[in-house]
Amino acid sequence: MDLGIRGKRALVAAASKGLGRGCAEALAGAGVDLVLNARGAEALEANAAAIRAAHGVSVIAVAGDITTEAGRAAVLAHGPFDILVTNAGGPPPGIWSDWSRDDFIKALDANMLTPIALMQACLPAMIEKGWGRVVNITSQSVKAPIPQLGLSNAARAGLTGFVGGTARQVAPHGVTINNLLPGIHDTDRATALDGGVVKARGVTMDEARAERMATIPARRYGTAAEFGATCAFLCSQHAGFIVGQNILLDGGATNATL
Ligand code: NAP
Repeated sequence: MDLGIRGKRALVAAASKGLGRGCAEALAGAGVDLVLNARGAEALEANAAAIRAAHGVSVIAVAGDITTEAGRAAVLAHGPFDILVTNAGGPPPGIWSDWSRDDFIKALDANMLTPIALMQACLPAMIEKGWGRVVNITSQSVKAPIPQLGLSNAARAGLTGFVGGTARQVAPHGVTINNLLPGIHDTDRATALDGGVVKARGVTMDEARAERMATIPARRYGTAAEFGATCAFLCSQHAGFIVGQNILLDGGATNATL
């Protein structure tokens, strides 16, 4: 399917690895020029070079921490953008009684206020053009909170509320905002979460993964490629009537009809 977005320009935050990288690759496959960000310059440059070589699109790599004002200013200097994919690392697991105000502020900064700031910066140009697509990478935990990820549950719920209202305000201008909710996907983040289980329960990594897979109806972890393909579709011409949705990619793990 031709996604109809060849020649558009996208900012994909936190995109040297994992789900952000999957989104960048899928957009590049649809002919979209990219500005990519991550903190580590080496992996970011390597990813940018691989995408350029594979897809022949323009890829600008901007190393920096997207959760800081300076990091955001550095990527936004390469705008305006037709497409924005927001993403950042997820907060660490823990227990409700341990988290301080500073821990909450850090999580809110990364997973709520950073995507909001990026949207505030990018939406005006999209509205002016009468076309734009925003996809926020959030989490399955928005629909089914994960107890040990309370910082993530809290920050992403706040972002989801903001998007619910804002998506309806920008839709009249041909701009869509939607959230993609990953369940467990085979990335470094999943390895880190499974590593926590290994440490806490004394099981092997293979056992931790097998136990988790057994809880997923699809009996496997998701891939960054299939996540990216869904993101690219949401950024396509065909998805202009999908507004303010929270779309789960979790292999059926969240047992709910709606
Ligand atoms: P990942 O494989 O660890 O990749 C994270 C990417 O983000 C890397 O490119 C990393 O590069 C970059 N990054 C992290 N913090 C950054 C920052 N402050 N500024 C700029 N770049 C940053 O993680 P992932 O699995 O793709 O997860 C992406 C998001 O989805 C996270 O918020 C995660 O919590 C959420 N999520 C993931 C899963 C899953 O199963 N994978 C499930 C639910 C939710 P640098 O480290 O070099 O900056």
